[in-house]
Amino acid sequence: MTTDQPGAGQDGFRDWIERMVRPKALGRMIRPQTFDSAMATAEFLPDVIERQQNQKEFLLPIWEYLEIAVSEERVRNGRAAVRKWRELFNRVEQRFGVEPEVVAAIWGLETGYGVVRGSYPTLSALATLAWRGSRSAFFEDELIAALRIVQAGNVKAERMLGSWAGAMGHGQFIPSSFLDFAVDFDGDNRRDIWSDDPTDAIGSIANYLAKHGWRRGQPWGYEVRLAEGFDYSMIGLDQAHPTSVWEDAGVQSTVAQGLPDYGVGSILLPAGHRGAAFMALRNTHALLRYNNSEFYALGIGLLADRIGGGKGLAGTWPMAERVLDRNEVQEVQSLLTDHGFPTQGIDGFRGPNTTRAARAYQMAEGLVADGNLSVELLEALRQRAG
Ligand code: CA
Repeated sequence: MTTDQPGAGQDGFRDWIERMVRPKALGRMIRPQTFDSAMATAEFLPDVIERQQNQKEFLLPIWEYLEIAVSEERVRNGRAAVRKWRELFNRVEQRFGVEPEVVAAIWGLETGYGVVRGSYPTLSALATLAWRGSRSAFFEDELIAALRIVQAGNVKAERMLGSWAGAMGHGQFIPSSFLDFAVDFDGDNRRDIWSDDPTDAIGSIANYLAKHGWRRGQPWGYEVRLAEGFDYSMIGLDQAHPTSVWEDAGVQSTVAQGLPDYGVGSILLPAGHRGAAFMALRNTHALLRYNNSEFYALGIGLLADRIGGGKGLAGTWPMAERVLDRNEVQEVQSLLTDHGFPTQGIDGFRGPNTTRAARAYQMAEGLVADGNLSVELLEALRQRAG
């Protein structure tokens, strides 16, 4: 704030690296020469702190999110990527049991099929976040994981680039995920997810999903239509039922006759009862391990379907509805909590606890219990409070 001279804000950064980080890293099997050479050029990146502070809160309505995630351009590029790397995708499917269009969808949503892999030096970004960011202990662990990656000879420190938050390469792995799940798929004894050649990165994405329970031959889920009078208290990822229960509840696939049976599933209504509905199966949970967001998992699933030749959705979105902003979501949370439906926090985010509380309130009031945080719900709560 006081100066914009070069090096501003760096006071103490190098000192902190030497006095605080170095002994911890050495205590965790990082060799002194690895540390000293990898961290020699690490610098404080004020821009990284700014980005962390200005992170967009996730308040896009699902239809706007999907317009970006499953844009025609991304679908087209995904089909082209699968054609171009057909042989690689086939070998990856043989080895890890994850279908090409699914791996491609993650590649496409994370980095536009490798085009936007990030140009922040990972060690500097992580050191910056560990020094001055929020969640500093998490980022310090990631920094030491990143040093371990360099020490093992996977990549030279200066080639280790990624997002401002330390996500690296074609599939945007954070260092700890890299250590656990990246693979050397081209057999040169290095796990290289950074190079223009995506071979190791594609294998690594597939291995990540396989290790988190992806089941080959099953979809992530599929679009459904709900019967008139459907019992909305059954929705949400926290409730899973076998196909027979959903059949009895009047759930229909939008494409198949009857419900295909892939074991238990959950119904998702990302825009409430006026929008499209989905059956989320076991494989959706593998996608959620990549990024724990229902929007993300739906985006990947629907993009994969389209890359694989599928058509768009049968259902529509209530696009005329305004989506609550973060303050309004906080107001909903605080009113729900006041009325005896605790949301376990007033943070302005639509997490599962808030959805559950909203559903309980709607049920108690005889409203459609879809858990959707709508303008309608806010107004009902205000009225009751007034
Ligand atoms: Ca390799």
